[in-house]
Amino acid sequence: MAQRRFRPSPLPEWRRSVSIAVLLGVAATALLLRFFGASAVIAASVAGLFGVCGIGLMVFWSRKAGVMTHCVTYCPIGVLATAFGRVSPFRISIAPSCTDCGACTLACRYDALGKADVLRRQPGASCTLCGDCVGRCKGSSIEYRFAGLKPDAARGLFITLVVSLHAAFLGVARLSEPCSAGCDREDNKRCGATNFR
Ligand code: SF4
Ligand code: SF4
Repeated sequence: MAQRRFRPSPLPEWRRSVSIAVLLGVAATALLLRFFGASAVIAASVAGLFGVCGIGLMVFWSRKAGVMTHCVTYCPIGVLATAFGRVSPFRISIAPSCTDCGACTLACRYDALGKADVLRRQPGASCTLCGDCVGRCKGSSIEYRFAGLKPDAARGLFITLVVSLHAAFLGVARLSEPCSAGCDREDNKRCGATNFR
């Protein structure tokens, strides 16, 4: 987690290219591991190494910059989530009543509310809809938006949906745990299990 600092440092422009390169690299590595029939130990070791690098990034860059660098630059899920966020019906928008005070910039840990973003009245592509900025604006100029709803209702709906989806997917993950009867792949095929080991 990024350490709270007074002013988060803007990240370099090239971090967008790096995040896409990391995403492609992770996908290619997974395919290669599958193609060459890598053992579970090798696959887990590669995944562990990737995770350790991410922790290093948190400690040596994110904490220093006061920005979730590991989310917006390194984590492939973060890159995908913000990309799909562009088609989300939810938005964070900045109203014309904004006074450019910059208070919301200090709240954003995802490099999405730099000066340029505030001036064009729209958070950057790395916005995660976390809502940290919303409470910082004394004039309520930055808010959640959803067609047909008032900002507070949109925020309530967004939070309800996020909590519900997390609960639902945790439940699905639990249901899809592999059985522990010691079946081999052929046994699993016969009983219809899909999560072969
Ligand atoms: S805190 Fe509110 S008024 Fe200040 S820059 Fe952000 S949106 Fe504008
Ligand atoms: S909701 Fe606000 S604080 Fe959170 S990432 Fe988006 S712009 Fe930044």
